[in-house]
Amino acid sequence: HAKRAGTHSWTRYDPAMTDRRAEDATLTEDLQHALDRGELHVLYQPIVDITTGRTLGAEALLRWEHPARGFISPVRFIPLAERSGAIARIGLWVLEQALKVRPSGSYMSVNLSPRQLQDPTLVHDVLAVLHRTATSPSRLVLEITESALVDDTHAPTLQALREHGIRVAIDDFGTGYSSLQYLTRLPVDILKIDRAFVAELNGTPEGRAIAEAVIRLAQVLHLTTIAEGIETTDQALELQTLGCTRGQGYLYAKPLPAHALTEVSTAPDA
Ligand code: C2E
Ligand code: MG
Ligand code: MG
Ligand code: MG
Repeated sequence: HAKRAGTHSWTRYDPAMTDRRAEDATLTEDLQHALDRGELHVLYQPIVDITTGRTLGAEALLRWEHPARGFISPVRFIPLAERSGAIARIGLWVLEQALKVRPSGSYMSVNLSPRQLQDPTLVHDVLAVLHRTATSPSRLVLEITESALVDDTHAPTLQALREHGIRVAIDDFGTGYSSLQYLTRLPVDILKIDRAFVAELNGTPEGRAIAEAVIRLAQVLHLTTIAEGIETTDQALELQTLGCTRGQGYLYAKPLPAHALTEVSTAPDA
């Protein structure tokens, strides 16, 4: 089973790769119009208190219903939107949709791409959306993947967002390259434990030990932990034992349309 990927001489003549590039180009082109044609919508996955099941907030997750190809995963199209720059407009649109439908008393968590962090008007744009939707900055969390945070140049932007009262979360923690030393310097408030670690919780002793170490580390650094991809009650119990009391996953709810989110978010406005 020869693994040949990675060399330019090979990829240049690979027909599958050529197809992929052609599809990339088509999808990138289609994405330019997707927003105006109403093909994009946002779903919301509840973030719950594991101990009570109460909904505390929700994560906004973008969906694209392509007229010819049907549902296309954000894992496929977000990188294309980043490369073309379309993510700037799409990302702010997601933020505005999410803050418009946020149930009162709960918070909204929105994914931010590294490309958006490079935009010099980002902080201004985010504050403008908060203003338009009459949202307190304390009701917004912005999620940034660990791999994006490895780039030190983002630190001042994250710090500026936090000074305005917006919280920042590291997404997919454990999948990037940041050293533990690095983590102690990151300007973040929340650590989201990648679902790969949650899946390992009741697997091997090593898997459990790694999840436990991440949760302990977050506690020492005074970060709130949120476990991603909780699918079983065993995982939820194990997380509770380890001191992680917030999470999201199919066990509680799949990503939902806005009206269904309101039904599960019954918390009174504090
Ligand atoms: P993410 O931010 O880590 O989002 C969590 C993903 O895990 C979502 O996939 C969600 O549907 C999925 N998930 C939730 N619970 C479970 C579970 O119990 N089991 C399993 N197997 N999966 C679960 P989704 O919606 O396909 O999004 C994939 C990624 O696309 C997101 O990962 C995020 O990185 C990116 N993304 C989605 N929407 C946006 C957006 O508006 N902006 C940006 N920049 N990225 C986005
Ligand atoms: Mg996320
Ligand atoms: Mg994640
Ligand atoms: Mg993820």
